[in-house]
Amino acid sequence: MLAEATATAASAAPHKVLKVGGYTPFTATDYPGKLAAVVFVQGCPWRCGYCHNPHLQSRTTDSPVPWAAVLARLCRRVGLIDAVVFSGGEPTMDPGLEEAICAVRAMGFSVGLHTAGMYPQRLAAVLPLVDWVGMDIKASAHGYDAITGVAHSDAPAFASAAQVLASGVAYEFRTTLHPTLQGPAQVRALAQQLHAMGVRHYALQQFRSTGCNDGALCSAPSAARLDAPLLAEMDALFDTFSYRHD
Ligand code: SF4
Repeated sequence: MLAEATATAASAAPHKVLKVGGYTPFTATDYPGKLAAVVFVQGCPWRCGYCHNPHLQSRTTDSPVPWAAVLARLCRRVGLIDAVVFSGGEPTMDPGLEEAICAVRAMGFSVGLHTAGMYPQRLAAVLPLVDWVGMDIKASAHGYDAITGVAHSDAPAFASAAQVLASGVAYEFRTTLHPTLQGPAQVRALAQQLHAMGVRHYALQQFRSTGCNDGALCSAPSAARLDAPLLAEMDALFDTFSYRHD
Protein backbone atom coordinates (compact mmCIF):
# COMPACT_ATOMS: atom_id res chain seq x y z
CA MET A 1 0.00 0.00 0.00
CA LEU A 2 2.88 2.34 0.84
CA ALA A 3 4.46 1.56 -2.51
CA GLU A 4 1.20 2.42 -4.23
CA ALA A 5 0.87 5.68 -2.33
CA THR A 6 4.42 6.62 -3.25
CA ALA A 7 3.94 5.75 -6.89
CA THR A 8 0.65 7.62 -6.96
CA ALA A 9 2.20 10.77 -5.51
CA ALA A 10 5.09 10.59 -7.94
CA SER A 11 2.83 10.22 -10.94
CA ALA A 12 0.18 12.75 -9.95
CA ALA A 13 -0.49 15.36 -12.60
CA PRO A 14 -1.53 18.93 -11.76
CA HIS A 15 -4.82 18.48 -13.60
CA LYS A 16 -7.12 15.64 -14.51
CA VAL A 17 -6.98 15.67 -18.28
CA LEU A 18 -6.10 12.22 -19.58
CA LYS A 19 -2.69 11.92 -21.22
CA VAL A 20 -3.17 9.96 -24.40
CA GLY A 21 -0.23 8.38 -26.21
CA GLY A 22 -2.21 6.87 -29.07
CA TYR A 23 -5.67 6.17 -30.45
CA THR A 24 -7.11 3.39 -32.58
CA PRO A 25 -10.51 4.28 -34.04
CA PHE A 26 -11.70 0.75 -34.74
CA THR A 27 -10.88 -2.73 -33.46
CA ALA A 28 -12.80 -5.96 -33.22
CA THR A 29 -10.24 -7.71 -31.00
CA ASP A 30 -9.72 -5.57 -27.88
CA TYR A 31 -13.17 -5.98 -26.29
CA PRO A 32 -14.80 -9.40 -26.70
CA GLY A 33 -17.88 -9.25 -28.87
CA LYS A 34 -17.83 -5.50 -29.39
CA LEU A 35 -16.52 -3.09 -31.98
CA ALA A 36 -14.40 -0.61 -30.11
CA ALA A 37 -12.01 2.31 -30.25
CA VAL A 38 -8.87 2.06 -28.12
CA VAL A 39 -7.38 4.94 -26.15
CA PHE A 40 -3.74 4.25 -25.24
CA VAL A 41 -3.05 6.10 -22.01
CA GLN A 42 0.47 7.31 -21.33
CA GLY A 43 2.58 5.99 -18.49
CA CYS A 44 3.47 2.76 -16.77
CA PRO A 45 5.65 2.26 -13.67
CA TRP A 46 6.71 -1.24 -14.70
CA ARG A 47 9.30 -2.25 -17.27
CA CYS A 48 8.30 -5.61 -18.68
CA GLY A 49 10.83 -6.68 -21.29
CA TYR A 50 8.12 -8.02 -23.56
CA CYS A 51 6.11 -4.77 -23.52
CA HIS A 52 4.55 -4.01 -26.92
CA ASN A 53 4.24 -0.30 -26.14
CA PRO A 54 7.49 0.77 -24.46
CA HIS A 55 7.07 4.24 -25.97
CA LEU A 56 4.07 4.67 -23.64
CA GLN A 57 5.94 3.84 -20.43
CA SER A 58 7.13 7.40 -19.72
CA ARG A 59 4.73 10.29 -19.24
CA THR A 60 5.56 13.47 -21.10
CA THR A 61 4.66 17.00 -20.03
CA ASP A 62 2.11 17.41 -22.79
CA SER A 63 -0.33 14.80 -24.01
CA PRO A 64 0.88 13.59 -27.44
CA VAL A 65 -2.76 13.23 -28.50
CA PRO A 66 -5.04 15.87 -26.92
CA TRP A 67 -7.90 14.24 -25.01
CA ALA A 68 -10.28 16.83 -26.43
CA ALA A 69 -9.36 15.67 -29.94
CA VAL A 70 -10.03 12.05 -28.96
CA LEU A 71 -13.43 13.01 -27.58
CA ALA A 72 -14.25 14.85 -30.80
CA ARG A 73 -13.33 11.77 -32.84
CA LEU A 74 -15.36 9.53 -30.55
CA CYS A 75 -18.33 11.84 -30.96
CA ARG A 76 -18.26 11.06 -34.69
CA ARG A 77 -18.19 7.30 -33.92
CA VAL A 78 -21.44 7.24 -31.96
CA GLY A 79 -23.67 4.61 -33.56
CA LEU A 80 -20.73 3.08 -35.45
CA ILE A 81 -18.88 1.41 -32.59
CA ASP A 82 -20.07 -0.10 -29.32
CA ALA A 83 -17.30 0.58 -26.85
CA VAL A 84 -14.18 2.46 -25.86
CA VAL A 85 -11.25 0.55 -24.37
CA PHE A 86 -8.74 2.33 -22.15
CA SER A 87 -5.39 0.61 -22.61
CA GLY A 88 -1.80 1.66 -22.30
CA GLY A 89 0.64 1.93 -20.78
CA GLU A 90 -1.31 1.56 -17.59
CA PRO A 91 -4.58 3.52 -17.64
CA THR A 92 -5.03 3.50 -13.86
CA MET A 93 -1.80 5.50 -13.52
CA ASP A 94 -3.57 8.54 -14.95
CA PRO A 95 -5.51 10.72 -12.50
CA GLY A 96 -7.80 11.72 -15.35
CA LEU A 97 -9.05 8.19 -16.02
CA GLU A 98 -12.27 8.38 -14.01
CA GLU A 99 -13.38 11.61 -15.68
CA ALA A 100 -12.47 10.22 -19.08
CA ILE A 101 -14.51 7.06 -18.46
CA CYS A 102 -17.49 9.15 -17.37
CA ALA A 103 -17.20 11.24 -20.52
CA VAL A 104 -17.34 8.26 -22.88
CA ARG A 105 -20.14 6.62 -20.85
CA ALA A 106 -22.15 9.81 -21.26
CA MET A 107 -21.74 9.37 -25.02
CA GLY A 108 -23.38 5.96 -24.74
CA PHE A 109 -20.33 3.73 -25.17
CA SER A 110 -19.59 0.63 -23.14
CA VAL A 111 -16.22 0.88 -21.39
CA GLY A 112 -13.40 -1.64 -21.43
CA LEU A 113 -10.24 -1.39 -19.33
CA HIS A 114 -6.89 -3.09 -19.83
CA THR A 115 -4.88 -3.11 -16.60
CA ALA A 116 -1.93 -4.86 -15.02
CA GLY A 117 -3.33 -3.96 -11.62
CA MET A 118 -0.45 -2.13 -9.99
CA TYR A 119 -2.79 0.50 -8.50
CA PRO A 120 -5.53 -1.43 -6.69
CA GLN A 121 -7.02 1.66 -5.02
CA ARG A 122 -7.35 3.48 -8.33
CA LEU A 123 -8.75 0.37 -9.95
CA ALA A 124 -11.36 0.07 -7.19
CA ALA A 125 -12.46 3.64 -7.90
CA VAL A 126 -13.16 2.98 -11.58
CA LEU A 127 -14.43 -0.62 -11.49
CA PRO A 128 -18.06 0.48 -10.92
CA LEU A 129 -17.81 2.53 -14.13
CA VAL A 130 -16.37 -0.24 -16.29
CA ASP A 131 -18.21 -2.93 -18.26
CA TRP A 132 -15.31 -5.28 -19.01
CA VAL A 133 -11.74 -5.68 -17.71
CA GLY A 134 -8.77 -7.32 -19.43
CA MET A 135 -6.66 -8.19 -16.37
CA ASP A 136 -2.98 -8.86 -17.07
CA ILE A 137 -1.50 -11.45 -14.73
CA LYS A 138 2.18 -11.92 -15.43
CA ALA A 139 3.18 -14.94 -13.38
CA SER A 140 2.80 -16.66 -10.06
CA ALA A 141 3.96 -14.46 -7.20
CA HIS A 142 7.62 -15.49 -7.19
CA GLY A 143 8.03 -14.85 -10.90
CA TYR A 144 6.56 -11.38 -11.02
CA ASP A 145 9.48 -9.11 -10.28
CA ALA A 146 11.75 -10.72 -12.88
CA ILE A 147 9.17 -9.77 -15.53
CA THR A 148 8.14 -6.30 -14.32
CA GLY A 149 11.57 -5.14 -13.11
CA VAL A 150 9.90 -3.83 -9.93
CA ALA A 151 10.17 -5.34 -6.46
CA HIS A 152 7.05 -6.79 -4.85
CA SER A 153 4.98 -6.15 -7.96
CA ASP A 154 2.94 -9.32 -7.37
CA ALA A 155 1.16 -7.91 -4.31
CA PRO A 156 -0.80 -5.09 -5.97
CA ALA A 157 -1.44 -7.22 -9.05
CA PHE A 158 -3.08 -10.02 -7.07
CA ALA A 159 -4.95 -7.52 -4.89
CA SER A 160 -6.37 -6.00 -8.07
CA ALA A 161 -7.20 -9.43 -9.45
CA ALA A 162 -9.23 -10.20 -6.32
CA GLN A 163 -11.05 -6.89 -6.70
CA VAL A 164 -11.99 -7.63 -10.28
CA LEU A 165 -13.39 -11.01 -9.27
CA ALA A 166 -15.31 -9.55 -6.34
CA SER A 167 -16.76 -6.72 -8.41
CA GLY A 168 -18.88 -8.90 -10.67
CA VAL A 169 -17.69 -6.98 -13.74
CA ALA A 170 -17.10 -9.07 -16.88
CA TYR A 171 -13.43 -9.89 -17.35
CA GLU A 172 -10.71 -11.88 -19.00
CA PHE A 173 -7.46 -12.65 -17.22
CA ARG A 174 -4.53 -12.99 -19.59
CA THR A 175 -0.85 -13.96 -19.39
CA THR A 176 1.90 -13.40 -21.94
CA LEU A 177 4.20 -16.37 -22.43
CA HIS A 178 7.85 -16.43 -23.38
CA PRO A 179 9.78 -19.70 -22.91
CA THR A 180 12.69 -17.94 -21.22
CA LEU A 181 10.32 -16.48 -18.61
CA GLN A 182 7.89 -19.33 -17.98
CA GLY A 183 8.06 -23.02 -18.73
CA PRO A 184 5.13 -25.44 -18.78
CA ALA A 185 5.40 -26.08 -15.02
CA GLN A 186 5.07 -22.38 -14.23
CA VAL A 187 2.20 -22.00 -16.67
CA ARG A 188 0.36 -24.92 -15.07
CA ALA A 189 0.97 -23.61 -11.52
CA LEU A 190 -0.30 -20.14 -12.41
CA ALA A 191 -3.42 -21.53 -14.07
CA GLN A 192 -4.17 -23.68 -11.04
CA GLN A 193 -3.66 -20.67 -8.75
CA LEU A 194 -6.02 -18.53 -10.83
CA HIS A 195 -8.60 -21.30 -10.89
CA ALA A 196 -8.41 -21.55 -7.10
CA MET A 197 -8.95 -17.79 -6.87
CA GLY A 198 -12.16 -18.13 -8.84
CA VAL A 199 -11.00 -17.01 -12.28
CA ARG A 200 -13.31 -18.45 -14.93
CA HIS A 201 -12.13 -16.70 -18.09
CA TYR A 202 -8.47 -16.95 -19.03
CA ALA A 203 -6.24 -16.52 -22.06
CA LEU A 204 -2.59 -17.26 -22.76
CA GLN A 205 -0.86 -15.10 -25.34
CA GLN A 206 2.37 -16.25 -26.93
CA PHE A 207 5.03 -13.52 -26.96
CA ARG A 208 5.21 -11.45 -30.13
CA SER A 209 8.25 -9.33 -30.92
CA THR A 210 6.24 -6.51 -32.50
CA GLY A 211 7.11 -3.31 -30.65
CA CYS A 212 9.33 -5.11 -28.13
CA ASN A 213 12.59 -3.33 -27.25
CA ASP A 214 14.21 -6.22 -25.37
CA GLY A 215 16.83 -7.66 -27.70
CA ALA A 216 17.41 -10.75 -25.57
CA LEU A 217 13.73 -11.69 -25.56
CA CYS A 218 13.34 -10.93 -29.25
CA SER A 219 16.35 -13.00 -30.27
CA ALA A 220 15.66 -15.95 -27.96
CA PRO A 221 13.65 -18.79 -29.47
CA SER A 222 10.08 -17.85 -28.61
CA ALA A 223 8.04 -20.25 -30.69
CA ALA A 224 7.89 -23.03 -28.08
CA ARG A 225 4.24 -23.93 -27.96
CA LEU A 226 2.27 -25.49 -25.15
CA ASP A 227 1.52 -29.09 -25.95
CA ALA A 228 -1.96 -30.52 -26.40
CA PRO A 229 -2.18 -32.33 -23.02
CA LEU A 230 -1.28 -29.16 -21.11
CA LEU A 231 -3.74 -27.12 -23.15
CA ALA A 232 -6.44 -29.69 -22.39
CA GLU A 233 -5.62 -29.37 -18.68
CA MET A 234 -5.95 -25.61 -18.92
CA ASP A 235 -9.17 -25.80 -20.85
CA ALA A 236 -10.71 -27.94 -18.12
CA LEU A 237 -9.88 -25.36 -15.45
CA PHE A 238 -11.85 -22.46 -16.95
CA ASP A 239 -15.28 -21.77 -18.40
CA THR A 240 -13.58 -20.04 -21.31
CA PHE A 241 -9.93 -20.52 -22.23
CA SER A 242 -7.99 -19.24 -25.23
CA TYR A 243 -4.44 -19.86 -26.40
CA ARG A 244 -3.37 -17.10 -28.77
CA HIS A 245 -0.36 -17.54 -30.98
CA ASP A 246 0.76 -16.84 -34.56
S1 SF4 B 1 2.69 -3.49 -17.35
FE1 SF4 B 1 2.01 -3.51 -19.51
S2 SF4 B 1 2.39 -1.41 -20.27
FE2 SF4 B 1 3.55 -1.66 -18.34
S3 SF4 B 1 5.61 -2.26 -19.01
FE3 SF4 B 1 4.44 -4.13 -18.55
S4 SF4 B 1 3.57 -4.77 -20.55
FE4 SF4 B 1 4.22 -2.61 -20.75
